[in-house]
Amino acid sequence: MDTKQGILSSVLWTIGASGLPRVVAKRKAGQGGILAFHRVYRSRPHEFGSQSLSTTPENFRRIIQTLVDRRYDFLTMSALADRLLAPEPVQEKFVCLTFDDGYADNYTEAHRICQEFGVPMTVYLVSGFVRRSYPMWPPGLENVLAANRVVEFTWKGRKARFGAHTMAQKRRAYWAITSFLAVAQPREIRRVCAELGRRYGVDFMALTDRNTLTLAMIREMRESGAVEFGAHTVRHLYLSRLTDALARREIVQSKRDCEALVGAEVRHFAYPYGDAGSFGSRELDMCSKVGFRTAVTTDSNTIFASDQNRLLALPRLTYNGRYQSTPLLDLLLSGTLPALRRVLRGRSTSAAVTNALPLAGSGAASDFRGMPPG
Ligand SMILES: [Zn+2]
Repeated sequence: MDTKQGILSSVLWTIGASGLPRVVAKRKAGQGGILAFHRVYRSRPHEFGSQSLSTTPENFRRIIQTLVDRRYDFLTMSALADRLLAPEPVQEKFVCLTFDDGYADNYTEAHRICQEFGVPMTVYLVSGFVRRSYPMWPPGLENVLAANRVVEFTWKGRKARFGAHTMAQKRRAYWAITSFLAVAQPREIRRVCAELGRRYGVDFMALTDRNTLTLAMIREMRESGAVEFGAHTVRHLYLSRLTDALARREIVQSKRDCEALVGAEVRHFAYPYGDAGSFGSRELDMCSKVGFRTAVTTDSNTIFASDQNRLLALPRLTYNGRYQSTPLLDLLLSGTLPALRRVLRGRSTSAAVTNALPLAGSGAASDFRGMPPG
């Protein structure tokens, strides 16, 4: 655990023990929340991206048991839309369990545990990953940095060079490279992956294959009746940085692709990265026109009745695996961390603290951190 993570973990424990979440919950817990996960997986030390994106199977089971014990309703995104639009309010609190990017452990671990408890999940697929036609680059980048003391590649016609002798240097290099790959154009991402792959002998597509749900897994999950699938674009790009034509293709084509993969209509969407800069009225309009019923962001908040007016920009509560040993679930569902973040964001001098909070929504790199690649 690095120093910053240690300090923040202590802060979260202190807030959790203070009784504050119970007080805050009275006004901020709303009707429930959409939890955003990525992986149910025990990450290894060099898997810098996966550490924040993963919760262990044991912890995931604890989370579900806690929510069952507290009598939460577990909803798919379709059921959530129905509930928000229902004429009569429902008193029971709810959670939606959502998973971004379509990692294989959504089948081997998350689905297995959800099945045990009989609770539904929603999985947002990146169709280019599932089709094995576009690289899911974070695992490849983790492997390149793990095995090398210096990493070099060409970026915008110049040589980029990162020292990676120590674990701390590797981690810093991972997040530095992530911060610009996250917002890069698809041609450039593909080229960097190919160059890193050639130079350091890492097969980015083999890693994509190993880490992504297969068609057989997707079909089995669908046939279980307990998994709803949504679309998460074709190549997991930062939509607001794309031309109109490319952005439309990412949204419209991913709906068609996912429907073909799943064998059913796909009515739900998740914006890659999902922070406020990653999408806007253009993307909302495209989602509406293509017929998505809901779309989720990584804006951190619980759900209130008024969210029926923004079904195409719903907030979520990102579960950051780096803090899974803290009372993170309570701090999220009570609305405490989202509220704290909004308070701190209002004070410019606290920007550094705000950005360090283990919440999604502070930009592209944090999506990888809070998720990832969001
Ligand atoms: Zn994502």
